[in-house]
Amino acid sequence: MQYKQLGNTDLQLSILGYGASPLGSVFQDIKESEGIRTVHTALDQGINYIDCSPYYGLTKAETVLGKALKGVNRDRYILSTKAGRYGPDFDDFDMSPQRIQSSLEESLVRLGVDELDMFLLHDIEFVDLEQVIHESLPYLDRLKKAGKIRYFGITGYPLKSFQQVVEQYDIDCVLSYCRYALHDDSLTQLMPLLKEKGVGLINASPTAMGLLTKRGAPDWHPAAQELIDCCRAAEAVCLRYGVDLTQVAMQYAVHHQAISSTLVGTANPINLLNNIEWIKEPINAELVLEIKTLFDTCAETVWVSGRSEN
Ligand code: NAD
Repeated sequence: MQYKQLGNTDLQLSILGYGASPLGSVFQDIKESEGIRTVHTALDQGINYIDCSPYYGLTKAETVLGKALKGVNRDRYILSTKAGRYGPDFDDFDMSPQRIQSSLEESLVRLGVDELDMFLLHDIEFVDLEQVIHESLPYLDRLKKAGKIRYFGITGYPLKSFQQVVEQYDIDCVLSYCRYALHDDSLTQLMPLLKEKGVGLINASPTAMGLLTKRGAPDWHPAAQELIDCCRAAEAVCLRYGVDLTQVAMQYAVHHQAISSTLVGTANPINLLNNIEWIKEPINAELVLEIKTLFDTCAETVWVSGRSEN
């Protein structure tokens, strides 16, 4: 496993990180024991970065992750969780300092740890960015100075809201999802700004939340049918080359030099081991070009998330 520094922090993240949302049965029902085994497999294979949120399975993912981490030496993993999002709807968001404070205390109990390495505002595009910049982030800054968290940052989907916040407030990291994967690599537009500001970059969802897997997207996936069809066409191209679409998706997402870690989610140890093996192999540039050309013809590679002004 390779490790990379995250922005100006002193964190060295494994280039493949473990995303714990599937532990909350977000994609399908899981067997808890298998989910726990997947976390242990990740750690045994050198993955040292784990991400979670109270939103995943409405606290279930944090609870299962806490069970998995029980008895594991705290210096074996770098842990992030989030605050601000507690359900799917606009009124499930609360990024006030009071809620951030109680959310942190509740997450620490569920996860069974005393301290977080990173604390992130979950999906900032759903709230007023003025509140994020003038209330929520200053509060995270206070928590950092008080030693309750080591670093803080933001997560979300639209690149515009990241830019707006990063230009106005000094944060440690950004967690972006579905923006550097086979179907969409627009995250590259944000990289120069993040580099200039010393903000670390975490890339999530290399399979675009299941789109780039054999099973395909879950029912709640926001992708338009045109993109879903394009993914199936990409799968056919991969079959012609004798490789798995998910294999190429993993290889593509992980190796950008500006990205410190790419978070993949699974509650299946075999999937995780495959991902770890795949990213060691060289990518087939000719195949990637063919797939990228296919996605270039698909008009609907992105979707809307959050408030229209963000
Ligand atoms: P992902 O692209 O990692 O896809 C997960 C899906 O792919 C699951 O259904 C999983 O079973 C499947 N999968 C993984 N490896 C596979 C393999 N080898 N073969 C077949 N199927 C495989 O999407 P994700 O889980 O949404 O993202 C990863 C993590 O990133 C999340 O768990 C979360 O921690 C983080 N994330 C954060 C945000 C945010 O903060 N807003 C958004 C998305 C993701």
